[in-house]
Amino acid sequence: MAIISDDNNLGIKFEKKNPIIKAENIEYDNTFESSIRPKDFDSYIGQTALKETLKITLEAAKKRGKPLDHLLFYGPPGLGKTTVAGVIASQMGVEIKITSAPALERPRDIIGILMSLKGGEILFIDEIHRLNKVAEEILYPAMEDFTLDMTTGKSQTAKTLRIPLPKFTLIGATTKAGELSSPLRDRFGMIHRLEFYTVEELAEVVKRTAKILELEITNDGAIAIAMRSRGTPRIANRLVKRVSDFAIVKYDGIIDKNVANESLDILKIDEFGLDNTDRALLNLIINKYDGGPVGIETIAAALSEDIKTIEDVCEPYLLQAGLLQRTPRGRKVSPEGYRHLGIKMPSQQKKLFEDIL
Ligand code: ADP
Repeated sequence: MAIISDDNNLGIKFEKKNPIIKAENIEYDNTFESSIRPKDFDSYIGQTALKETLKITLEAAKKRGKPLDHLLFYGPPGLGKTTVAGVIASQMGVEIKITSAPALERPRDIIGILMSLKGGEILFIDEIHRLNKVAEEILYPAMEDFTLDMTTGKSQTAKTLRIPLPKFTLIGATTKAGELSSPLRDRFGMIHRLEFYTVEELAEVVKRTAKILELEITNDGAIAIAMRSRGTPRIANRLVKRVSDFAIVKYDGIIDKNVANESLDILKIDEFGLDNTDRALLNLIINKYDGGPVGIETIAAALSEDIKTIEDVCEPYLLQAGLLQRTPRGRKVSPEGYRHLGIKMPSQQKKLFEDIL
């Protein structure tokens, strides 16, 4: 429910609770996360193509004196969708209001937020694929014509009000672009997929975070952590923190390659960055289902994990690393997956796999 003043001249009242998360508290209420979150393009590492395009788009919008087009970012969690939205806001010198689709349950939630926006401001909606139909329909005219079409009163006395909204920019983020309805997707001026980061880029993320946290780290140490970070800055940052605990307690405080590798071994994060859940998933498909194919529901039930966690957190990296294969009949472990676990792939499976490819 949105905060909105009672003096909106429409007699519309809203509950004074707010689904907006303040920018500085994005997602976490967590000082560690907010202290290391890049605030400008220079400290936002990697995603070069995105940064180049955005810099031009931002410059053009500034020169025209107009708000930015609506933007949609998609990709697995932790790759920097929320962060880049914050960078855009600070580069444009505007406020960003951050919320997520599940917080916009009722029409008045989204209406309240839209009416609280000022000209040029950015509205960031995380997990935008989870918006309900009603909220989506309120968004269409808001995105396209900057108006709010509302019906007041009942049946015969019903009136449609067209309320002008200030020109704002919507930034949507999703892990599942495919689940967005096409009318919503079509209303974004730019759609960009965030890529997994290279080891070199992640090593930079690691060094930057270590510097902010005043930790001593060698180049080799940073690379060792980067290699096990699954292409994801959020994981790299988490690992820096975990490894630094080991460095302080068990070693002399400096994070070098040995300290990093030994700590990550103890944490059971292997050289591909896989953790126990990832290995359990691959082992399950190999040992119980002859390497697959097997459906996601079966995998989730057997691992006692929810489907969303498997689809959004485990799978994208296993697929990208080539350890898992998605087929129309379900998931299969690839020859690389077998190799990684040190299990010999039965020749019959190998043939099946080749046939599918
Ligand atoms: P998403 O919204 O895609 O789930 P976030 O934007 O919340 O991911 O990023 C997670 C964390 O990773 C942030 O707290 C930030 O510190 C770090 N991070 C993300 N992208 C970058 C980047 N390009 N450079 C440096 N750090 C990054």
